[in-house]
Amino acid sequence: MQDFDVIIIGAGIGGLVTATQLAAKGGKVLVLERYLIPGGSAGYFERQGYRFDVGASMIFGFGNNGTTNLLTRALEAVNVNLETIRDPVQIYYHLPEGLEIKVHQDYERFLQELTAYFPHEKHGIAKFYQECWNVFNCLNSMELLSLEEPRYLMRVFFQHPLSCLGLVKYLPINVGDIARRYIKDPKLLKFIDIECYCWSVVPADKTPMINAGMVFSDRHYGGINYPKGGVGKIAEKLVEGLEKAGGEIQYKARVTKILMEKGKAIGVELANGKQYRGKRIVSNATRWDTFEKLLSPEKMPPQEKTWQHRYQESPSFLSLHLGVKAEVIPPSSDCHHILLEDWEKMEEEQGTIFVSIPTLLDPELAPEGYHIIHTFTPSWINHWQDLTSQEYEEKKEAAAANLIDRLEKIFPGIAEGLDYQEVGTPRTHRRFLGRLNGTYGPIPNKKLPGLLTMPFNRTPIKGLYCVGDSTFPGQGLNAVAFSGMSCSHRIAVDLGL
Ligand SMILES: Cc1cc2nc3c(=O)[nH]c(=O)nc-3n(C[C@H](O)[C@H](O)[C@H](O)COP(=O)(O)OP(=O)(O)OC[C@H]3O[C@@H](n4cnc5c(N)ncnc54)[C@H](O)[C@@H]3O)c2cc1C
Repeated sequence: MQDFDVIIIGAGIGGLVTATQLAAKGGKVLVLERYLIPGGSAGYFERQGYRFDVGASMIFGFGNNGTTNLLTRALEAVNVNLETIRDPVQIYYHLPEGLEIKVHQDYERFLQELTAYFPHEKHGIAKFYQECWNVFNCLNSMELLSLEEPRYLMRVFFQHPLSCLGLVKYLPINVGDIARRYIKDPKLLKFIDIECYCWSVVPADKTPMINAGMVFSDRHYGGINYPKGGVGKIAEKLVEGLEKAGGEIQYKARVTKILMEKGKAIGVELANGKQYRGKRIVSNATRWDTFEKLLSPEKMPPQEKTWQHRYQESPSFLSLHLGVKAEVIPPSSDCHHILLEDWEKMEEEQGTIFVSIPTLLDPELAPEGYHIIHTFTPSWINHWQDLTSQEYEEKKEAAAANLIDRLEKIFPGIAEGLDYQEVGTPRTHRRFLGRLNGTYGPIPNKKLPGLLTMPFNRTPIKGLYCVGDSTFPGQGLNAVAFSGMSCSHRIAVDLGL
C-alpha cells in the first residue's frame, strides 16, 4: 500500500479542481480515473478529424472579474491557462407558438428582445431578473470556499455582512416563487421554466434561486466562453497543472471499493486488486455510485438514505454527434439552441432538444468545410434496456432520424449535409461516464427548500468526502468547480495544509 494525503476517485472537473487546489497547497495527491482520459462529462472523443465534446459545451466561469469565475481561478491556481472564445449569445430558444428568443450576452438587448414579446410584463421581467442579479452580486463579492468551515464563514460575514444575509435569504427559495411574485402571464412563466430546465432539468418551481442567480446573471457578466481546442482542454490543462504541482494521476484505474477501518475511510481498492492508502478519500463518483457500489449499501448512513428520499436521478441523454457540410449552417448562426415544439412535452422523454455547434466558435474542431453538431435530448435508461443488439441498433437509428427531422426546422437541409453520425444513449453515458444509469445528476423528488437540503462535501463517514454534481451547488462545470474549491478548502483545513 502506497500512502497519500488525499486520494481522489475520478477525474471529472470536480475531482480535478479538488486535486489541483490541494496539490498547489503542498498535499500529496493521487487521482484515480477509470477511463482513458480526464474530464468525465466534460471530456471529448475524436472521430475522422472531428473532435466532439461528450457533454458540456456552454461554459460559465471563464470570466476575468469578480469571484464567481471559478474555472479561470482553478487554472490560475496551478499556473496554467487556456485561451477561450467569447460566445455572444448564450442560447437561441425556438419555442412553441413562434416564441423565438436569443439570450444575448448584452443584458439590455436580451431584456428588450424578451419584453418585445411580453410588453405588458415589462416591469415584471425587469424585477425578476433584478432579483437574480441580487443573488449574483452577493456571491460575486466574496471568496467562494467551504461553507463547512466556521472560521471562513465568520471572516466572510465580517467582510461582507449584507451579501451573507442576502444569500441566507435566498438559500431556501426556488425560482418559481420569485417568478410568480412579479410575472402573471402563463406563457412567460413557461419561458422562465425552460430557462431553468435547460440546465437544472427541472422547472422553475424546483430550481434553487441561488443557482439561477448565478446562471441568469453570469451569462451577462463573465459571459459564456468556449475553450479553444474543445471542452476537453479544461481537464487536460488541470491535469498539466496537477502534475506540475507534484500531484499524480492514473488512468484505467477503476476503484471498486473504499477501504474502511474502525468506521473510517482509509484507502481504496482498484479492479486489479491494487490498494492505496490516504489520510482523506474524496469521491467524484455520483452519491449513488459512492454509497451503493464503492461502499456496502447495507451500511448506508441514515443521512444518505434521507438524501435518496429527497433527490432522484435525473434522466440521462440521447446524444447525437454529427459532422455536417458547412453550407448547412449559415455562418451567422448561433452556437447553442433549444428546440421545443409543445410546452406540455418539456419534461417528457426526448421532449426538449439541445443543440451545440462549437465549430462556429472554433472551426479547428472539424475538417475544413464541415461543422460539428452535438444535439441531445433527455432520455431515461429504461427506454433502452431489454433489447437485443439488433433492436438496440434499430432503435438508435430511428431515434437519430427523428431528432434530425425535428432539427430541420432550425437548419433546413441538415439530413442531406450529413458526413458523420454517432448516436449515444443513456447506456453509452453509463458506460463511458461511469454514472448510475447515465444520469445527468440529482434532481429534487418534490419541491424542496432551495439549496438547503443539498449536502456539502463532508459525509457521515469519517475521512470520506464527496465532490461534484451530487454535492452543493449541483450540476454544471462552474458549479462542480465550486464544489471542488470547497472540498479542497475543508480538507486543507482538516489536514493543516
Ligand atoms: C450531455 C451533457 C451536456 C451538458 N452540458 C453542459 C453545459 O453546456 N454546461 C455545463 O456547465 N455543464 C453541462 N453539463 C453538466 C456537466 O458536464 C457536469 O455537471 C459536470 O461535468 C460533472 O462533473 P463532475 O466532476 O461532478 O463529474 P463527472 O464529470 O461525472 O466526472 C466523474 C469522473 O469520475 C470517474 N469515475 C467514476 N467512478 C469511478 C470509479 N469507481 N473509479 C475511478 N473513476 C471513477 C468518471 O469516469 C469521471 O471521469 C452537461 C452534461 C451532459 C451529460
